[in-house]
Amino acid sequence: MKIVIQTNKIKCDMGTCINHAKYSVVPDGADKSRYVNVCEDCMRKLYNAASAIYAPKNSGIKRSGNKGDKQ
Ligand SMILES: [Zn+2]
Repeated sequence: MKIVIQTNKIKCDMGTCINHAKYSVVPDGADKSRYVNVCEDCMRKLYNAASAIYAPKNSGIKRSGNKGDKQ
């Protein structure tokens, strides 16, 4: 699956959104009628929603305070 920039004026497929799509989600082997067209606003919301589910917990972000524990 990949995401491509949508240059045609196609309506965003997300729910009741009335924006024009800026991106298309392209499932492997799908033709254009199967693309999921998403505007920038919805893509950002989708990303935030997805990352809330898939972001690994306790990785990357180190909390300040207990640095090192050198004792
Ligand atoms: Zn949208």
